[in-house]
Amino acid sequence: MMLIDKKIIFYFSLLLMTTTISSSLMAQQSDHSLKGKKVLFVYGGWEGHDPVPTRDIFVPWIRSEGAEVVVSDNLDVYTDSTLMNSLDLVVQIWTMGTITGKQEEGLLTAVKRGVGLAGWHGGIGDAFRNNTEFQFMVGGQWVAHPGGVIRYDVNITDHEDKITKGLKDFYMNSEQYYLHVDPNLKVLATTTFSGDHAPWIDGAVIPVVWKKMYGKGRVFYSSLGHVAKDFEVPEALEIMQRGIRWAAMSLHEAPEKWIQPVYGR
Ligand SMILES: [Zn+2]
Repeated sequence: MMLIDKKIIFYFSLLLMTTTISSSLMAQQSDHSLKGKKVLFVYGGWEGHDPVPTRDIFVPWIRSEGAEVVVSDNLDVYTDSTLMNSLDLVVQIWTMGTITGKQEEGLLTAVKRGVGLAGWHGGIGDAFRNNTEFQFMVGGQWVAHPGGVIRYDVNITDHEDKITKGLKDFYMNSEQYYLHVDPNLKVLATTTFSGDHAPWIDGAVIPVVWKKMYGKGRVFYSSLGHVAKDFEVPEALEIMQRGIRWAAMSLHEAPEKWIQPVYGR
């Protein structure tokens, strides 16, 4: 009699556990959705970073996720306050450009208010070299890619975060971005530099993927994506897609804790 009871209790708790796990997995998938969101995709700047080919990767995908996308090849779109007030997310691929004070203010104000921002490589990591407030928002600025296009490893350092959960370390044949970064980023993946091209940085660990807040807006960055072909690496594409979904949720979910002081208190 006792044995049967124990067995029943065991199977019952197993059932309960399975239900809890699967419903929390479903919740994870459903609460990061682009469905019904409004996204502004801005492309331009240095053509070496494939603004047009990457537009043609991400815009159709964002639409396929059920979002409305406004596509612009002009930064003046940031001064359209009616449009900016209607957005959930801005995705920008614009390298080594210049932005006017009014354009920058339009973007910064929107993100501070809760519009998300997502981008990759130089598209937001080396967009406007003269604009420190823009860099404060992004959380990093490209400074070097020693050796140019090389083979390097990307290490997933956060296995709990939804953006990198379930992903394994991988490698790229591309530019290994050395960035000056905000030490308070929530870093999700890193890369370690060899001393082959700059001996004094042998062993230096630099973030590759991060998330942060700017005001109420979620900011997502991945340094992967020098050219459109880099997104043929499944992990590079998956990380960017998950980051875009996450950043689009600023106005719909509570802000996340992102301060991670690396120097202690
Ligand atoms: Zn590049």
